[in-house]
Amino acid sequence: MFDKLRSAFSSVAKSLGEKELKENDIDDLLFQLEIELMESDVATEVIDAIKSDLKKKLIGTSVDRKEIESFIKNSLIQSISELFDAAGTVNIMSSVSAKKNSGEPCVILFVGINGTGKTTTLAKLGHLLKENKFSIVIAAADTFRAGAIEQLTEHANRLNLKIIAQNYGSDPAAVARDAVLYAKSHKIDCVLIDTAGRMQTSKNLMDQIEKITKVVKPDLKIFVGDSLAGNDTVNQAREFYQHVQFDGAILTKSDADARGGAALSVVKITSKPILYVGVGQEYSDLKPFDKQVFLEAVFGSGDIAHEPKPEPKPEPKPEPKPEPKPEPKPEPEPKPEPKPQKVSDPFEGIKDQDISTYADLYDVPPPENDDDAFTMAKNIRNWIANGRPKPGQQSKKQESESKLSEVKKPEEKQKEDNKEEEPKKKRRFGWFK
Ligand code: GDP
Repeated sequence: MFDKLRSAFSSVAKSLGEKELKENDIDDLLFQLEIELMESDVATEVIDAIKSDLKKKLIGTSVDRKEIESFIKNSLIQSISELFDAAGTVNIMSSVSAKKNSGEPCVILFVGINGTGKTTTLAKLGHLLKENKFSIVIAAADTFRAGAIEQLTEHANRLNLKIIAQNYGSDPAAVARDAVLYAKSHKIDCVLIDTAGRMQTSKNLMDQIEKITKVVKPDLKIFVGDSLAGNDTVNQAREFYQHVQFDGAILTKSDADARGGAALSVVKITSKPILYVGVGQEYSDLKPFDKQVFLEAVFGSGDIAHEPKPEPKPEPKPEPKPEPKPEPKPEPEPKPEPKPQKVSDPFEGIKDQDISTYADLYDVPPPENDDDAFTMAKNIRNWIANGRPKPGQQSKKQESESKLSEVKKPEEKQKEDNKEEEPKKKRRFGWFK
């Protein structure tokens, strides 16, 4: 992890160590640092802050040439360490425990764009809370994206967690409120609320999330961002923060992130801490974010451990634990309580890519309700069976009926094949915004 960022810092330190400490050297060095940080997906504001901080520390300081390298490294470590410290910490397990002790459920709202791993992260946190002996109910408040309710229901079933869901097109704030009421009446410790990650416009999305926030007054709002998505993640964090003032972020796909810039940028832009990082696709692949681990990954553990002065102090970061339970409590799940309405997946067996392509080609809006979803799924199945014709093109059936045995041009077929294999990056109905 963080290979690029690490090489940026070490090459900067090396270049200075070989020269006299002059202002010109510092400018060259800062320029080099800027380029490398940009390549590591660190946001411009963060780069500027690091640069000016470093400049202040270097100019006018007489440093023994032999110690220049460690001096710079320590200055950088200190700046970044202070950045993380200033963002503070949020311990989710303690928050849930505190609310539980006051007899109330802890309500946690998840926000973020489709495809970043929000649903999986919610399920991972549900798993972690369950391991810590908390009871949980999930609210399927993304009633917009086709398949969202089924995806969350699948996670809930696998984890044996209660889920409250309604139909597509229903009011997400009402779903969230029902889940909170359910938690209160059944003494459930924690409510995890999924929200839409894309709507007709960014404004609709933010309005919807603000409405949910007003209705259920979450105790914690968590932004989920993809650590691989670079500046997109930083921009998303900025926009969500402006509207929802989230309490912390979880960065997914850190297992595949060699750059490490997203954590730095999100913290700098929002002044909110990174709570966890996703490190894989299993439910247990959620690790608490640890500043010390981050710094060691960027600068190397030896440097962090041995530097005397500006060395960042290791934070006591225990694995979050629930507070001792006040009274023995029967495990509330599973209960024969009124079941949430189960919706069998209208899109089952249809690839996301096909849904997305069909919607784009035929300009089909997202389904408003279950009936729409089933009709759309039926149309997509017919379209696939007919060889995925483009608008105006003949279907396979029509082709054979008119006995035009025209063979597809090889390059056209190649294009279609490539389309099939396109990585699942663009989500159903395209990108948000
Ligand atoms: P959503 O649209 O934001 O709800 O995204 P999903 O939860 O459906 O996740 C999108 C994809 O990212 C899925 O294939 C997940 O398995 C994958 N994913 C989520 N978190 C991680 C992670 O931490 N590491 C890796 N490697 N994949 C992840």
